[in-house]
Amino acid sequence: MRCPFCGNEDTQVKDSRPAEDGASIRRRRSCPACGNRFTTFERVQLRELVVVKTDGRRVPFDRDKLARSVRVALRKRPFDEERIERIVNGIQRRLEVEADSEVTSRRIGEVVMDTLRDVDEVAYVRFASVYRNFREAKDFRAFLGQIDGS
Ligand SMILES: [Zn+2]
Repeated sequence: MRCPFCGNEDTQVKDSRPAEDGASIRRRRSCPACGNRFTTFERVQLRELVVVKTDGRRVPFDRDKLARSVRVALRKRPFDEERIERIVNGIQRRLEVEADSEVTSRRIGEVVMDTLRDVDEVAYVRFASVYRNFREAKDFRAFLGQIDGS
């Protein structure tokens, strides 16, 4: 595993244990080159997902990209790394289960919104406002009305 700080290829595993969800292994690693520490999660992949973008292009599903948008939505919210990882796993698992092998980027957005709505309303609104790319304030108000109503 390459060090995310300095790019060194040869990092060491300090500790491995099952993550809370039991579906992944959490490893603490350290880099002998720069001394930084980081955590990786190893998980079972059910199938290789292909994402169909809105312009019709097909690209391999990028879990890191999904994790980044979930992290952005949950920034400064009371969620630790492991819980975020569990949320991302849940989203990926749901996509893997319901998709044949292809999933639209739109569907991914919907599943993320669904999931965030259950775990944190602030994160949900953040993600949804970016995802739906509100151009008019009234759309956003209508949207907030939907949340209040649910
Ligand atoms: Zn390093």
